[in-house]
Parts: sequence; structure tokens; C-alpha cells
Amino acid sequence: MQKERVVIIGSGPAGLTAALYTARAQLAPVVIAGAQLGGQVAITHEIENYPGFPEGLSGPELVERMKDHAENFGAKFEYDLVESVDFSRGSPFIVKTLGGHYSADAVIVTIGADPRKLGVPGEEDYIGAGVSYCGTCDGFFFRGKDIVVVGGGDSALEEGIFLTRFANSVNIIHRRDELRAGVQLQERAFKNEKIRFTWNAVVEEIVGGAGGVTAVRLRDVISGEETVAPTEGVFIFIGHDPNNAVFGEQIALNENGYIITDQRYRTNVDGVFAAGEIQDEIWRQVATSVGQGTSAAMAAIQWLEAHEDSLQPLTAATA
Ligand code: NAP
Repeated sequence: MQKERVVIIGSGPAGLTAALYTARAQLAPVVIAGAQLGGQVAITHEIENYPGFPEGLSGPELVERMKDHAENFGAKFEYDLVESVDFSRGSPFIVKTLGGHYSADAVIVTIGADPRKLGVPGEEDYIGAGVSYCGTCDGFFFRGKDIVVVGGGDSALEEGIFLTRFANSVNIIHRRDELRAGVQLQERAFKNEKIRFTWNAVVEEIVGGAGGVTAVRLRDVISGEETVAPTEGVFIFIGHDPNNAVFGEQIALNENGYIITDQRYRTNVDGVFAAGEIQDEIWRQVATSVGQGTSAAMAAIQWLEAHEDSLQPLTAATA
């Protein structure tokens, strides 16, 4: 078993930033990068709203830069998946991956949340070419276009309203005839002249060609009738799934499955911190995750300093 001062679970912007800060504090953090270095950002075509990059940059480039930055100060990256954790006896915590076992004095959880997918033909093919899960990130690319939004919750309406700043029209497709979203958002959406609703309909297929999305094939869930609605963009807001499975009952979650933290990004387990979308179900931006990763790292550094006398030496590896 490898003994470490800090293990960071996840390698999105929160994890990469926490790695940079803890590395600069000479803690040589180990980042368990997960299935995809950079998480959702790694599959984001272009990022235009991260400060300091006025020309924008691609998600993969931002991820590489953040990783290099952390590595330059001594962060270590393991391209591995966490299988389970044992937080039951307090620090040092056990983190089991497919490839090894780690004993960590402090853990920073930045494992993220995944946008729910429709799971229909064409969806995966056109991600970044008309299919999006983030209006704030991608709305700007749909200026003057006719787009559809899928979902009937707060996110679908809030993002749908936001997208009317850019799009020529927004067709909100909902599988029922009643919205889940709050009344105030409903009123704002109904008043918005660019928004119309398609009720009792589900997307069966996202259709496109070399230039990206061209239409969605819809099915009326009552009549069964199928129609094709031309569109250049499909924004899907049908919820997120926080990646909490490896923690079981060992960490306190809110009713939606997100890790509960306080203002110092402490979880209910002393020495375990969380940042980014695994604890933030509201903002979900690269810039907010970077800020949260910074705060969680600083809190972890302070926690380790406060517990310095009781920490085992790093050479004390156990079988
Ligand atoms: P949500 O409340 O779970 O709503 C998901 C929507 O997607 C529902 O309308 C659901 O339909 C629909 N849906 C789910 N699976 C679908 C599928 N396979 N095909 C088609 N439609 C599907 O998720 P959310 O809107 O992301 O909100 C998550 C949480 O964040 C909520 O607690 C919300 O209140 C909160 N939030 C708040 C704000 C705000 O206050 N400003 C903004 C955003 C989010 P059904 O209704 O038929 O189930």
C-alpha cells in the first residue's frame, strides 16, 4: 500500500486545481484521474468563458495545461479508477483503485457529476457538433439558430430562457404536459416570445450530417405519431448523476446525492474535503470548480498542518 499525504479523486478542473495547490505546498499529491483526464471539460469543444483566455481554448488544451502546471510542482497522476474507499477509521483513509491501494492522510474528492443522456441514436455522434449539455458554455455558438431544449425541470427552463439571448427560437420538448420546474421559471418561459413548447414528446433520434445536427425525430407519447423537427442544436437538461457510488454510506450526501460540504469544503468526515460538481449542483462552471478546488486544497493544507504531530511518516507503508 502506498502512503500519501493527499490523494485527490478525480481530475476535472477542481481536482487539477487542488493538485496544483497541494503540490505547491510540497505535499506531492496523487491524482486518481479516472476514466478521462479532465472529466467533462476534456470533451468540451471550446471554452470561451474561462478568464485569461480571450481567444478561447479547447477543453483538452485547458486540461493539458492544468495537468502540466500541477505536474511541474510535483503532482503525480495515476490513470486509474477508484473502486472503493474506507473512511470508517478516520485518517489515514484507504483508497482502493483497480491498480493499487493508497493510504492518504487527507482526501480531496472531485469526482464530478455526469449530465444524464437521452441514450438515443445520434446523441453521442453529435456531442460538440450540435448536441450540448451546457447552455452557458455553448449558447454563444448558436446565435440566430433554431434550437431545441429537452427537459421540463428548472435547468431546462433556466437554460432555455438563457439560450434565447442567442438563438432565434427555442423549442422546449417535454415528455409530459406538466412542467417540473418552479412556477416563477414557468411564468418567465411562457412570457418569452422566443420559446415554444412541444408537450408529451420524446426525442427518438438526433439526425445530422457532416455539418452537425439538422433535426430531431420526435414521438408523441400519447398518439405514438412520429414527426421530424428541423433544428441546428439540441440542448439536453434532464438532470445530472453525481458520481457518488464508490462512497456508499461513508460520506453525507444531500437528497439529490451530492456530497454535503461546509464553507471550507469540509465533508462530514474529518480530513476528507470535496470540491467541484460532486458537491455543487448549481453552477457547474470551469471557473467555479477551479475556485472550489482552490478552497478545498487550502483547507486540506491547513488541516494537515494542524494535525502534523499525529501524522505517520510517509515511509510507513503497510501491506
Ligand atoms: P430535474 O429537476 O430532475 O428535471 C429533469 C427533467 O428532465 C424533468 O422534467 C424530467 O421529466 C426530464 N427527464 C428526465 N429524464 C428524461 C428522459 N430520459 N427523457 C426526457 N425527459 C427526461 O433536473 P434539473 O432540472 O437539472 O434540476 C436538478 C435540481 O437542481 C433540482 O432540484 C432543481 O430544482 C435544481 N435547480 C434549480 C435551479 C434554480 O432554482 N434556479 C436551476 C437549475 C436546477 P419529468 O418531469 O417527467 O420527470
